Amino acid sequence: MLTQNEFLHYTPSPNLLGNRIIVITGASSGIGRSAALSCARHGATVVLLGRSLPKLETVYDEIEQQGSPQPAIFPINFESAVDEDYQQLKNVLEEEFGRIDGLLINASELGKLTPLGQYPLSDWQKVMQVNINAPFMLCRTLLPLLKIAPSGRILFTSSSVAEKGKAYWGAYAASKAALRNLAETLADELEESTIKVNSINPGPTRTAMRASAYPAENPLTVTPAEDLMNRYLFLLGPDNKNCNRLHWHAQSTE
Ligand code: NDP
Repeated sequence: MLTQNEFLHYTPSPNLLGNRIIVITGASSGIGRSAALSCARHGATVVLLGRSLPKLETVYDEIEQQGSPQPAIFPINFESAVDEDYQQLKNVLEEEFGRIDGLLINASELGKLTPLGQYPLSDWQKVMQVNINAPFMLCRTLLPLLKIAPSGRILFTSSSVAEKGKAYWGAYAASKAALRNLAETLADELEESTIKVNSINPGPTRTAMRASAYPAENPLTVTPAEDLMNRYLFLLGPDNKNCNRLHWHAQSTE
């Protein structure tokens, strides 16, 4: 079993994800965009999920420009998506690829940073819809395609507030705690399969979400998403042979 320190120093081979199909949610910006570029650079055909078609098209173009395998785009708004949308996603992936090898659950809403007593119900519901209901629907719908792959990988994006609730982080913290639990349940259910399920806490990362949560912070003092990608690649790729049901920190916690 890999130690946290070995994990932090993992180096992927150039074609680690060759011939693998990796679905990434929230691929339009921040960590998801970075993961899409990085997976593609290591040989994967990436399927970009997000709500903004123009932003997804920009990432698509970036992937083509770097000479990686041609990606695919599936626009979906997790706030409003219903069962049929997820079925359509599954049908498209099945027709196009026949299976998927990796699923990175990354899209998320920050919601309001406000005391629970003043937390608007509509914001609460939106955060829960995007951060926990959508991941459940994605897993439920896409699991049959992951089971066809020889070594499917599912990676959930966690947060430090999943481990310990924090004042004013309301729905976001509750949703991330629920997501962590969902990851464990799924990993337990798939223990006997070839699928590995883990979650990763990226730690403070230079993205729009971080800037929105910490507006006074100088972004240049925060780790860029690109610096974390080898760790994402490990958990999404075949080099992870036996890590399952674990919660990883993408940055040193010392
Ligand atoms: P960003 O805000 O940069 O990216 C969030 C992504 O989620 C965007 O692609 C966004 O799309 C997408 N998204 C949001 N709402 C929806 C929706 N309703 N339907 C479809 N897609 C949606 O944030 P990060 O890159 O920072 O966050 C990535 C993950 O990392 C999240 O799960 C976050 O909780 C987690 N995380 C981040 C930390 C950090 O410091 N940055 C720390 C700990 C955890 P769009 O581009 O259209 O907005």
